Amino acid sequence: MKQILPGLWEIDEIGDAVHCYLWEWQQGLTLIDSGFPKDARTILDAIVKRGYALHNVRRVIVTHADLDHTGGLAQIKKATGARVACHTVEKVLLEHPGQRKPAAWFLRPLFALARLWPAYRQAPVTPDELMVDGQELPEGFTVVHTPGHTPGHISLLHKEKRFLIAGDALSNRNGKLQAPVRAFTPDEKNAQRSIWKLAKKYGDDFEVMVFGHGPPITQNASKRVKGLVSQIFSADV
Ligand SMILES: [Zn+2]
Repeated sequence: MKQILPGLWEIDEIGDAVHCYLWEWQQGLTLIDSGFPKDARTILDAIVKRGYALHNVRRVIVTHADLDHTGGLAQIKKATGARVACHTVEKVLLEHPGQRKPAAWFLRPLFALARLWPAYRQAPVTPDELMVDGQELPEGFTVVHTPGHTPGHISLLHKEKRFLIAGDALSNRNGKLQAPVRAFTPDEKNAQRSIWKLAKKYGDDFEVMVFGHGPPITQNASKRVKGLVSQIFSADV
């Protein structure tokens, strides 16, 4: 595992295609996202290797119900007994993964075909807890609803420790801070508004930002988001 900040770990054992994170806090562990289906075993092994028992994982928070973020979820929930939490609006996609449609029409048959392969088959999960925008969690996170990439996408802000787990509200692919990939973002306008919201409402609240895709930004992260917003909207925040 790779430490980003004290208590915040990236489970880099699963490789670089997608990132998921472990947050150590007073009452145990919270996992944020859970990789592809193939990653479940690797994530569980990494947690044990760090010296924890699997039941120390108290909760899994889902930023959004995409295959690369929740593929391993059913297995991890079963192995750890952790409670699964997602945004109220995302519940339907977690329970019915087949309803997720990419924005680009030409990808839709590919999506349908891919689901026939076990490596891309996303087992449905019923969340134990539903969250809403602005909710404060015992882990120290504030839930920030950042829809667009999916309708119930959330980012998690830790105001005290000044970091943001962006999920796919933004990506930092190849070290370039940008809006989520168009082909997989059915509501691009809303995705842009979500970035605006992060900059406008929480622009003084974080220094470090981690992503579903791409390396972390370890300083001046909110300034970088403001810069991106200026580009997208041709206006200062
Ligand atoms: Zn993703």
